[in-house]
Amino acid sequence: MERWLKRGADLGGIALADKKVRETVEGILSDVAERGDAAVRELSIQFDKWDRESYRLTEQEIEACLSQLSKRDLDDIAFAQSQVRNFARHQRSAIQDIEVETLPGVVLGHKNIPIQSAGCYVPGGKYPLLASAHMSVITAKVAGVPRIVTSAPPFQGKPAPAIVAAQHLAGADEVYCLGGIQAVAAMALGTQSITPVDMLVGPGNAFVAEAKRQLFGRVGIDLFAGPTETLVIADDSVDGEICATDLLGQAEHGPDSPAILLTTSEALARDTMREIDRLLQILPTAAIARQAWEGHGAVIVVDSADEMVAVANRLAFEHVQVMTADPDYFLAHMVNYGALFLGPRTNVAFGDKVIGTNHTLPTKQAARYTGGLWVGKFLKTCTYQKVLTDEASNLIGSYCSRLCALEGFVGHGEQANIRVRRYGGGNVAY
Ligand code: NAD
Repeated sequence: MERWLKRGADLGGIALADKKVRETVEGILSDVAERGDAAVRELSIQFDKWDRESYRLTEQEIEACLSQLSKRDLDDIAFAQSQVRNFARHQRSAIQDIEVETLPGVVLGHKNIPIQSAGCYVPGGKYPLLASAHMSVITAKVAGVPRIVTSAPPFQGKPAPAIVAAQHLAGADEVYCLGGIQAVAAMALGTQSITPVDMLVGPGNAFVAEAKRQLFGRVGIDLFAGPTETLVIADDSVDGEICATDLLGQAEHGPDSPAILLTTSEALARDTMREIDRLLQILPTAAIARQAWEGHGAVIVVDSADEMVAVANRLAFEHVQVMTADPDYFLAHMVNYGALFLGPRTNVAFGDKVIGTNHTLPTKQAARYTGGLWVGKFLKTCTYQKVLTDEASNLIGSYCSRLCALEGFVGHGEQANIRVRRYGGGNVAY
């Protein structure tokens, strides 16, 4: 039986962005479509107080950002990037082109072709989220995307050196310092100074996620990756301090970030709530994390591991941290999640920053139909076919002709009939 010891007002769910956000995004997208660079500049001044002639960073500016970082900072970024690159390469090598003979003389195949340009958004309104640069730029690079454009907002009034370094070291071809809706609009729609891309990727706040959603169709998008969500599944094999730390660690992303504890132990639930109250007194980012916990936090107690799986699959959360006696049970049985973090030795922050799996993950229950960003998202699986013999052309042509007749497609039928006459030497038998 499911018992809720705490329930925030809004736990994510499939809800669309609210009406105000949708309308703001709609207005800004049409403005950028109509006026290009002039609109982008006005919006950047309005939302980010950031005014420039050109928002593309020059080589000198990129070098200046790199030089502001210590050797330790650069080494740490290089380590994280090598982990992300390494796992992405393994994932790439698991994707195969195929060519098979399905009938004598009939050859079918598919090739995985990289999209030709990607716009990688790196969020940076509240925190300079440099890790998002590794996640999108490196993954696009490993997939073989030839033109990689990336943009991040200014942070505290100027380009964030660590983000710019990560974008550059990840291998981006064009680096822009633009934030929010105007950034994704400029990359997707193009302006007088920015050539449009074929696909937009990367996480962001509600405005960025909604802008990507509205731009889908005009360009491809990776997935709906909005405000972070975290679900901690735990039993009494762990204590409240570690559960509270993992919940607040993600709640600090933003005041709209849901965080839920799901447990079979009421004692652990109560211990975790006490620990959260204690940590909120000392966490430097408590102002944000408290709003997230109060508005979007929940504690659910159930009776069994089966019930935990059922609730977790229903929630379809972005991050699912499992700290139970048998975490592999959840790996075997969970079907809806962005990423699983199995056992107390790992956690969401490892995945967010450094371990090598991608941190751009589905939110608002998009995990029901997609996983997170990975090399496969940058590849188009395109099919082809060949018919190598007269006999095969005659065989497929005869079936095709009759099936076209069933649909009343005379022109299609003629495409088949001409082949049956030429390669089979007669007319189709009806
Ligand atoms: P952001 O870069 O996404 O957004 C900042 C930009 O929003 C600003 O540059 C500004 O132009 C625009 N903006 C702010 N207020 C606006 C308004 N009222 N109208 C129009 N535009 C406005 O940075 P952020 O705000 O710090 O958000 C980052 C988000 O990314 C967080 O919500 C975090 O949870 C999420 N995230 C998600 C994932 C994922 O995989 N799902 C991963 C990492 C981060």
